Order: sequence, then C-alpha cells, then structure tokens
Amino acid sequence: MIRVTVWNEFRHEQEMPEVKAIYPNGIHAAIAEFLSKNEDMTVRTATLDEPEHGLTDEVLNNTDVLLWWGHAHHNEVSDEVVRKVCQRVNDGMGFIALHSAHASKPFSRLLGTRTDMLRWREDGDMQRLWITSPGHPIVKGLGDYFEVPHDETYGEQFFIPQPDNLVFISWHPGGEVFRSGCCFVRGGRIFYFQPGHETFPIYYQPEIQTVITNAVRWAAPTYPIVQTKDYSTG
Ligand code: ZN
Repeated sequence: MIRVTVWNEFRHEQEMPEVKAIYPNGIHAAIAEFLSKNEDMTVRTATLDEPEHGLTDEVLNNTDVLLWWGHAHHNEVSDEVVRKVCQRVNDGMGFIALHSAHASKPFSRLLGTRTDMLRWREDGDMQRLWITSPGHPIVKGLGDYFEVPHDETYGEQFFIPQPDNLVFISWHPGGEVFRSGCCFVRGGRIFYFQPGHETFPIYYQPEIQTVITNAVRWAAPTYPIVQTKDYSTG
C-alpha cells in the first residue's frame, strides 16, 4: 500500500471566488479524491494553515509519496518543516512538485538551484505536452502527446539541474517550450509536473489524473525508508 500525502497551500481557494468555484474543497481534496480510487493507495491531505503545516513527524514518517502544490506563500512554510521534508526525501520518500511548486522551498532545496526562475505569462493558452520518454511508467496509458486546453504558460529557461529523465516537453502557441515533466533522484524519487494553474479545472482532466497517478506509483520507495542521522544539526 502506498501512503500518499497531498499538501496544498490552500489559500487561493478560500480567497478567490473564481478558484473556489472550481475547487470548493481545495486542490488537495480534488487530487486526493481521484488518487483515493486506487486500491494500492491510502491518501491523506495537509495544508499550510494546519499546525506544522499538517506535516507532523507522525505524518511524514508515514508518508511514502508527498505531493506539493504551493504558489503565493512559499515563504510561510517553516524552514524546520522543509528540513524534515527534504531529509525524508533524501531517505527515500517520493516527492511530486505540481505547477507553481517549482518555486517551493523543498523543491529548490532538493535540487540546489534557483528553480523559481522561469519564463511565464498568464493568458489561458493551451499547451501541448509531448512525451519524450515513451515507455516510461509515468506516461503509461498516454499516446504521443496530450493537450491541456487552458493553463498558465511557462517557458524556458527553467533553472533546474538537467533532469535524470525528461518525460514531457510542453509546446505553447506563443512559441515557448518548457520541460514540463522532469524526473530526479535525491535518495527518493522526485517528479516535477507543470500543469495546474488554479483558475482552470486542470486536475479534473483524465490525462492529468493518469500522469499524477502513474507518478505516485513511480515515486513510491522500493525499499523501507530508514531515517538517517541528520548531520547538519550535529
Ligand atoms: Zn499558476
């Protein structure tokens, strides 16, 4: 059984009526709902405004794959929680960064570069996600490409280290391209997946749900996670 925790900033849905209309219970709830249908997964959620952002030791120590959606309040995530998340990933937990979580503290710290830096515009354009690793477990069930009808546009350059495996490249009508599905290993497996701007119903799209479901299975640790000593604190 894969123990999944879906973490969400959960502010836009409470502060912006147009977002609340799409995700009345939050993006985390929408993602948890489709993941919960898989018999090999148990799913819980956590949000920024809960104590310890909902990521207590008990929760983290019982999470195999952590999904992360954040946008406007990355800096409110406590460094202590970020340290524990990163250590757990280094010990083997899977981590899936969604959309604007490219600029989240855990993602940046795990990759070690200015991952917050990329080209972006908010015009509601479509994007076409081309599969660049056919046969990879994350693209199981998809064809050569699929399209998201409306999303925020991200473009290169994206200041990430070269991915260990590039699963998707997105094309946009404005001429931009973007590495929209990227795999890394930092002890645990990390997947960055770009679609998911909060003003569009992207997490209800079947192909998106397929990718995220596949990614959870790919990122799940294949061995028991043993907590290593944290040498940074002596
Ligand atoms: Zn966005």
